[in-house]
Amino acid sequence: MSFQNPNKNCTLCERLCSFRKDNIKKYPTYYNGPVPAFGDLDAEILIVGLAPGLHGANQTGRPFTNDYAGDVLYPILKENDLATGNYMKKADDGFRLINVRVTNTVRCVPPENKPTTAEEKNCRIFLAEEIKTMPNLKIILSLGTISHKNVLQALGLKQSFAKFTHGAVHNLPMRNMKLIDSYHTSRYNINTGVLTYPMFDIIIKKIKELL
Ligand code: URA
Repeated sequence: MSFQNPNKNCTLCERLCSFRKDNIKKYPTYYNGPVPAFGDLDAEILIVGLAPGLHGANQTGRPFTNDYAGDVLYPILKENDLATGNYMKKADDGFRLINVRVTNTVRCVPPENKPTTAEEKNCRIFLAEEIKTMPNLKIILSLGTISHKNVLQALGLKQSFAKFTHGAVHNLPMRNMKLIDSYHTSRYNINTGVLTYPMFDIIIKKIKELL
């Protein structure tokens, strides 16, 4: 099967579709569509977030771009030589990922940043296709429990196969791949100290060692 992106007017999720229509009226200059992955398909690392933020990825059309979570993610990738250029919070800032692709569990912005289980399920086909279509994929980094859960499901694995634990490295039974867990780089996690910049830096350094 070849890699599929949802089309710009994807109608798989009724609630997300109606939210998109409202946002097109409210914010006509925004991207307002399923946000495609960022980075090359031949990358060895896939980072899987949750979903676009309303005024972030949903505005810019690039995952984590102009979202607080991207202010943590992208500079740390760059410090670890996994990105080049200046991250300027815009899709056309010339910032490029090196050996990394970034995507989301759910590609459309959900109200209050919370996708439903049914929406995760609808969108999972794209995540599954993405994983299948990355020929050199070695490491999947899940940001948060929802990403972790959906990556396992996209791979056809049971939840009991691997429990979400920040910093855990799970050996996957296919293609010699590993799944690594991290707390999400969200504003909430950073503000509450659940995740710090140094903690996330350690995760990225661990990934580089494992390659
Ligand atoms: N923006 C994204 O694109 N994904 C997230 O998980 C958070 C913010």
